[in-house]
Amino acid sequence: MNEALSKKLLDDFPHLFRDQNTTSMQHGFECGDGWFDLVYKLSRDIEAAARESGLSPDSPEWPWCRQVKEKFGSLRFIVFAGDRPLGLDERISELRLAALNQSLQICEDCGKPGVLVTDHGMATLCPEHAR
Ligand SMILES: [Zn+2]
Repeated sequence: MNEALSKKLLDDFPHLFRDQNTTSMQHGFECGDGWFDLVYKLSRDIEAAARESGLSPDSPEWPWCRQVKEKFGSLRFIVFAGDRPLGLDERISELRLAALNQSLQICEDCGKPGVLVTDHGMATLCPEHAR
């Protein structure tokens, strides 16, 4: 993901993406720009769920993203599982699964509708970028 989009995510969700140097986040967001909206929405929804469960952003239990990457054509968003209020882990799992499924319909390059292409490895791409 390009620098400007990555910076926007890090700036808007500093608690979710804290201590990047000690996790795989030191490699940055390992997916294409086309998934920016999806990653942004997922980050926002995870933080909203944490807030609803009564956590404060300064709390060590606040969700901590360890890695964002593409794998087998879909979005993988790894969140540290600490001791959290009951129900929050389940809620985060639902959100991550929903985003994974959505990523299989969004071109990783440009964000237009896409499909899983398996010609050369696996990638979710629009007709234009699948060529
Ligand atoms: Zn595309």
